[in-house]
Amino acid sequence: MEITERVAYLKGLAEGLSLDTETKEGKILSAIIEILDDMALELQDQQDQLIEVSDGLDAVSEDLEDVEDLVYDDEDEDDECECEDEDDDEDCYATTCPTCEQTIYFDESILDEGEVICPNCGEKLEFDLTDVEDETDGDQE
Ligand SMILES: [Zn+2]
Repeated sequence: MEITERVAYLKGLAEGLSLDTETKEGKILSAIIEILDDMALELQDQQDQLIEVSDGLDAVSEDLEDVEDLVYDDEDEDDECECEDEDDDEDCYATTCPTCEQTIYFDESILDEGEVICPNCGEKLEFDLTDVEDETDGDQE
């Protein structure tokens, strides 16, 4: 039985038994039943609102999936280097991720750090700066 129904039953019981609200006990019982009634209605309201919020969240989640589809489609078609944070004095580099074979673009500041995170699969790629400066020296362990 729902709480609202149980409180309604309790109210009916108090009326049916002619609860004497002139006595101290009767006044207190009557006040308690009133409060229970309010609380039951409040609880019902909250449950209804929770269902609304939950439905709204489902809708947002579906919209987000659409947005994700658009964004990832966009990335697949985007072959331009996006190193725009710094001015032209920074060179752009490109490498291919060995894990997902996606081309990754990065600038000189990342080259100095010696590593870049693949934006596609999250793989951390480390470069050996000696390879960049001297390509014949590639067999270093
Ligand atoms: Zn990758």
